Amino acid sequence: TRPANCPPDVEQLGRATWTFLHTTAAYYPEKPTMQHRVNMLSLLRALPVLYPCSNCAQHLGENMKTHPPDVSGRAALSKWLCEQHNEVNERLGKDKFECTVEKLDERWKDGPSDGSCD
Ligand code: FAD
Repeated sequence: TRPANCPPDVEQLGRATWTFLHTTAAYYPEKPTMQHRVNMLSLLRALPVLYPCSNCAQHLGENMKTHPPDVSGRAALSKWLCEQHNEVNERLGKDKFECTVEKLDERWKDGPSDGSCD
């Protein structure tokens, strides 16, 4: 295994980025202001330009053309992001995640009801 202080590889960068994006979506307002929406759209639209894995960025850009981000509220944004992540999962032969707000909140906001993450 690589030492922990090595520069991130595509997998580590991906895990860190998904953690940031899913968590940010989980805490996005139910009723976002125009300022929330504009900033979230800028954040997401920047990824295909700036994400430092060029083929990841290219795939994301293509997907966002046919499936534009939904920044209208927390549930819609979380679902949109889950679907984008599933598209990558599918391409890499990984399991798909069930994109319900319950499953997403459990994974990214509340933790399981048995309290094991408290
Ligand atoms: P990850 O896929 O990183 O997932 C982390 C955790 O998120 C999982 O353990 C699971 O609990 C949860 N999770 C899984 N699926 C979902 C979902 N749909 N919704 C919510 N939560 C979920 N890698 C490539 O090799 N090629 C690419 O083209 C590529 N494109 C990428 C594009 C983007 C925008 C990002 C952020 C990453 C991309 N990656 C790509 C990296 C890839 O998605 C994984 O992050 C990496 O392979 C590590 O995978 P992992 O199995 O550790 O879990």
